[in-house]
Amino acid sequence: MTGRAKLLFVLTALSLVLIGQAVLATSVKRVTVNCPICGREIEAEELVSTNNLGGQDTDFLTRAGGQNPIMIIAITCPQCLYSGYLGDFREPASEEFKAKFAAAKLRPLDSIEKPWVRHDLIAQVMKLKDAPAGKLADQYLKVSWAARLADNPFEILYQRLSKSEDEWVSVHYKELENFERDKNPAEREVDDARAVLTGVDAAPAEQRYVMVLYALRKLRDHGENELVAQAMPLLQPHLDADDWSLLAVRVNASAEIERRAQRKALVYYTQASQSVETSADARIVHIYLCGELQRRLGHYEQARAFFQKALTYENKPAWLDALVARQLTLFPAGQ
Ligand SMILES: [Zn+2]
Repeated sequence: MTGRAKLLFVLTALSLVLIGQAVLATSVKRVTVNCPICGREIEAEELVSTNNLGGQDTDFLTRAGGQNPIMIIAITCPQCLYSGYLGDFREPASEEFKAKFAAAKLRPLDSIEKPWVRHDLIAQVMKLKDAPAGKLADQYLKVSWAARLADNPFEILYQRLSKSEDEWVSVHYKELENFERDKNPAEREVDDARAVLTGVDAAPAEQRYVMVLYALRKLRDHGENELVAQAMPLLQPHLDADDWSLLAVRVNASAEIERRAQRKALVYYTQASQSVETSADARIVHIYLCGELQRRLGHYEQARAFFQKALTYENKPAWLDALVARQLTLFPAGQ
């Protein structure tokens, strides 16, 4: 792993998510808490340990081996919809806040069984608690991560590859063993997917479907929704027209849940980066994330402007130059 990738891990540990020591899998224990608003008893899971074996996406989502903590840590009371992390449920609520909460009427957009919905409700509760812009931005970023981790519309097709297609995957994985080994595993997967796509035209006809599907699944895994949208037409010749159209709608709907949260995170990161209360170290991370979120949303001009702004900072962190240079390679030609 490069020094910059290591720094990214440290940075995330400080600013965004809980990271335990590297162990083999995420482990949790069952706990019971009472809702500080309505008193209902709630069963929850407490994170005991986690890991970063899967590396880190370039918007700082740490990829755990085993279950990702992001999918565990958000708690919603099924009775009154009060939402928070375990610590929030262990703190009493004032009568004043209870009255404010009762008047607010939270509106979940989908089932509270879905982690992204619970993270979204946490953001709504944070607003009632007058959380600063930086915290709201981090929370909406978590909503986008939970959406990314929840759904990959390519997975079903991938699980149903034929024997010969499966063989291509096995051979490819063997070739991958020596591919950019020192790289952050999450970036490596994205770069591998892009390399596979560039080889599709030259590949034998019977291999093209598995190559495209393999690459799309990886890109979707890492929330590279714009790269997915660009490559989707490559899958079209391999599916029945109605099937293709249904899949395209599903892929877009799934990405849209992530994009909605990214747009909200972007608004609050922009606010936070302009606030006098933000420290210089946090500000540069906010500006980088504004660039990265704009890129993920396909707004390349704005993304480039934020990246360039980040690069002009005097005390920029050591990892920034290399990371921005790499992110610029993901821009489509001519952008
Ligand atoms: Zn409650």
